[in-house]
Parts: sequence; C-alpha cells; structure tokens
Amino acid sequence: MSDCLFCKIVAGEIPAEKLYEDDDTLAFWDIAPQAPKHFLVIPKKHIVGPSDLIKEDDALAGKLFRIAAKVAAEQDIDSFRVVVNDGAEAGQVVFHMHMHILGGRPMNWPPG
Ligand code: AMP
Ligand code: ZN
Repeated sequence: MSDCLFCKIVAGEIPAEKLYEDDDTLAFWDIAPQAPKHFLVIPKKHIVGPSDLIKEDDALAGKLFRIAAKVAAEQDIDSFRVVVNDGAEAGQVVFHMHMHILGGRPMNWPPG
C-alpha cells in the first residue's frame, strides 16, 4: 500500500528504531510511547487489522505473539500488555495491523 505509514517503514522509506526483523515480521519502538517500554510488532504484509485476516494468515498472526514475547525478553520486559486496536472507534489510527507491547509500569484494568 503506497500510502501506508507502516508499509513505508517496512520498505525503509521512513526510519524506525528497529528491534527485530525477519522475512515477514518487524518490531520497532513506538514513536509516542504510552509506557516506559512500548514497541510494535507488525506483519510486513499489508493487513488492515484482525478483521482483515484470512485463513492463510493463521501462522503469521500467531507468529506475531512469539516475536512479541521474544523481543520483550530481549528488552528485559518481564510483564507486558498486548493491545491490538481494530477500527477507528477502538482507537486504531494506523490501518496496518500492529500489536502494541507495553511494559515497565503497572497496567490498569479495564483499559480506557
Ligand atoms: P493505533 O492507534 O493502534 O493505530 O497505533 C498506532 C501507533 O503507531 C501509535 O502508538 C503511534 O505512536 C505509532 N506510530 C505512528 N507513527 C509511528 C512511527 N513513524 N514510528 C513508530 N511508531 C509510530
Ligand atoms: Zn501497510
């Protein structure tokens, strides 16, 4: 998607502080952190959000959790919140699926 911010990060057209990268996933620090440690894990493939997933994405979607935990461990984040916003009312602003990983402070429940 030529006008997608995260596709541009994947393509290297916009810089990001990368934490992990492989053939189909990328993790990088969030530019506006909501916790002392806040990074994003994305599929390199343009998927809008969970509602856009197809059966062929099952392995990729599951992999995002494994990469999230791996990067969290590497960053000494031993407890973390995973957030995926799907749709504008849920708070999604970037319409390329991303998993927020937040750690380094106590988390509230219910979330706002
Ligand atoms: P969401 O509201 O779930 O769509 O989250 C989008 C996230 O992307 C927000 O937490 C933003 O701070 C983050 N973000 C936006 N632009 C960038 C960027 N260039 N690099 C890193 N994170 C970004
Ligand atoms: Zn995209």
